[in-house]
Amino acid sequence: MRDERTRRQRTLSRSVALDGHGLFCGQDVRLELCPAPEDHGIVFERTDLPTPVRIPALIDFVVPQPRCTVIQHNGAHVAVIEHVMAALAGMQVDNCLVRLNAPEPPGCDGSAIAFVELIDQAGVVEQTAEREVFSVPEAVTVVENHDVGVAAMPPRTDEYEIGFLLDYGNGPIHPQGHCCQLSPEQFRSHIAAARTFVLRKEVEALRSQGIGLRATPQDLLVFDTHGPIDNSLRFKDECARHKLLDCVGDFALFGCDLRGRFVAQQSGHRLNHALVRELRKLREQAGAAEGHSPSQKLRRVG
Ligand SMILES: [Zn+2]
Repeated sequence: MRDERTRRQRTLSRSVALDGHGLFCGQDVRLELCPAPEDHGIVFERTDLPTPVRIPALIDFVVPQPRCTVIQHNGAHVAVIEHVMAALAGMQVDNCLVRLNAPEPPGCDGSAIAFVELIDQAGVVEQTAEREVFSVPEAVTVVENHDVGVAAMPPRTDEYEIGFLLDYGNGPIHPQGHCCQLSPEQFRSHIAAARTFVLRKEVEALRSQGIGLRATPQDLLVFDTHGPIDNSLRFKDECARHKLLDCVGDFALFGCDLRGRFVAQQSGHRLNHALVRELRKLREQAGAAEGHSPSQKLRRVG
């Protein structure tokens, strides 16, 4: 009999598309979200290359890059996948082929709400196979220094909870925190619309590296000393909610549903990835202890 705490895998009812330009690279792009079979997982496909390349959105394919999450395979990469990943994970879409004709998805307004609306437009269907679940068995901590880190703890029952705390000291972004028990309803109402943010003093440095040349203060939150420029906050703690959104996207690189309590303080993508790698080690150890090879758990590459 099926365990009541598990659910069936889900995919989209039909393909849907969204046009825009990348937040970092500024390149025009069409993103298509396409239905995919059971156990396919989330796979990105670069359709603009002479031979299209598919890259599974799993931690093994992540390459280091500051300020965003990048996956790479067979010489092709896709950058800034975290907001698309957060929308798919937040809305419990487990199997999806994400086709892109550029190296970066549309940035939209710097949040995940456009992708949630796209998923709503497609509709979601249940498949037959059960979604795999990993329950955090023991506390795991990745710390950078005394006030930057991320931790995962076992669930009390079967919840998936993420809390984020940030304190940048005296500045326009006041100390704040947000905590959420993940479900599609919670994600859609409280997390998906929280936007990327940057400090005005960081903008010039980013632009000199060719990052965000097409972005305006309407595309994301740019804070100067008084608050966001030419924009207003959607939530008082929008920055903490956006960082929580990034965690949802990054933790989805684990490749299955998670149960546990996650707490992050000032952490960014690099530490989020490090935590996912630590959790993967625990799962492999548990698999080895049960006497089967971890490779049995590896997903098919789209
Ligand atoms: Zn983000």
